[in-house]
Amino acid sequence: MTATCPQCTASDEAVAVPEALADARRPLDEPVRAQLAAPLLLPPEPEGVGGGAITCYVLAGLVGLLQLRSLVAEKSRDEEVRDAAYQAGAVLGPWIVVALLLGIGVAVQVARRRRRAAKARAAGLPTREEWSPELRDQRKRQFRVWEAAWLCRRCLVAFFPDGAVRPDFPASPAIPVGEFPLWVVTAAERAFGPEAMAPRT
Ligand SMILES: [Zn+2]
Repeated sequence: MTATCPQCTASDEAVAVPEALADARRPLDEPVRAQLAAPLLLPPEPEGVGGGAITCYVLAGLVGLLQLRSLVAEKSRDEEVRDAAYQAGAVLGPWIVVALLLGIGVAVQVARRRRRAAKARAAGLPTREEWSPELRDQRKRQFRVWEAAWLCRRCLVAFFPDGAVRPDFPASPAIPVGEFPLWVVTAAERAFGPEAMAPRT
């Protein structure tokens, strides 16, 4: 299938958007790729534990293990040191270190989650908690529109040929790449939104 660019009225550089994104021989510039990217259909991956927190937990586990071993060893050893304060320090000290390491691990993890949530908000992505069936349907509608989009590599504009979105949808004008995401959102609701699908009265 070919399509004609509404700006240069040629079809030699026009290519379907999904195809343009997948073309490894002529990769698009990163900013253009970002604007043309497919609407996200799945909720974001659940967050794993970050490397910093894991290091803290592993260290806490090691200190705890060493301390348990030395406790066992001490029982069989002659009780040379009888100073109560020294003994309390020797026994409690490592456990305080363990508690501190665990605390730092949790704090690092909370900070990481906050950073990621802020990043997702800045990118306009819903968090896992915000993901709902309505949002998923909305994204599916946007995906249908996105699939029908074309790109003219010469003009760097997106466009929808006549009837591409829906058989009764007229051709779009040339859409600057920067306006493409908003165009997809708007066209998705116009073409497939609850109002468009409701029976006409
Ligand atoms: Zn063109």
